[in-house]
Amino acid sequence: MRFAFLGYSGAVQLKGSDNASLLLERGGEGLLVDVGGGACGKLRELGFDPQNLAAVLITHGHIDHIYGLPSLLHQMWLLGRTKPLTILGLPAALDTAERLVELFALPEKKGMFPLEFREVAPGEVYSWRDLSLRWVAMEHSVPTVGFQVLQNSQGQLFYSADTSYCPELGPVLGPTRVVIHEAATLEEVGEATRSKGHSTAADAGRCARDLAAETLYLFHFDQVYESRLAEFVREAASTFHGAILLPEALTWYTMT
Ligand SMILES: [Zn+2]
Ligand SMILES: [Zn+2]
Repeated sequence: MRFAFLGYSGAVQLKGSDNASLLLERGGEGLLVDVGGGACGKLRELGFDPQNLAAVLITHGHIDHIYGLPSLLHQMWLLGRTKPLTILGLPAALDTAERLVELFALPEKKGMFPLEFREVAPGEVYSWRDLSLRWVAMEHSVPTVGFQVLQNSQGQLFYSADTSYCPELGPVLGPTRVVIHEAATLEEVGEATRSKGHSTAADAGRCARDLAAETLYLFHFDQVYESRLAEFVREAASTFHGAILLPEALTWYTMT
């Protein structure tokens, strides 16, 4: 499996990065997590044919995670897609997604490919190729789902979406090699951050520590901290002793 960030910003786009969105790729097929701006072009820039997307997961209905969906679907249709696309999400996020699709009358386009809206529920497992995605309820201001990717029952990757720190996840999920966790701010505003359903860099480190991860990727940074991202790595290192990375946009990361 390999993955790439189409963007790593929080709600306001940082210079050089779109809003948070992640592509998972396995055997030439893709699963896109949230949809920011220009997703179709960014997939092509990565050398990934958008027609090879099998599914799109909308982690929650906040605008920075869903606004690009109608344009992505429209461009796939223009490029001649015929095979179905699964859109995954909690009921509230799926409702927003369906309304966006209908607002632009996409289902009425001539020859529009089938859209399969499929509700996910925390604790359920979704099979994708030889991987299992276990949906995880996160702590945010609206219903939000994260997920753990398992291969042969081994935790490979955990993606937090937008959330405050969830201390109960360690025993539930077990060891997981890569943790991708939001880090909106630093501990200097920790209480305010957590009260809004977000995490600090130290919180992200706590989650990676709880999951006995090898590598932690931080993302979903608040724009106030744009020039201080190096401090995020230092702060996360106070709670987690593995590798800590700031993602590069449109760069493949391969899991060996
Ligand atoms: Zn967000
Ligand atoms: Zn959010």
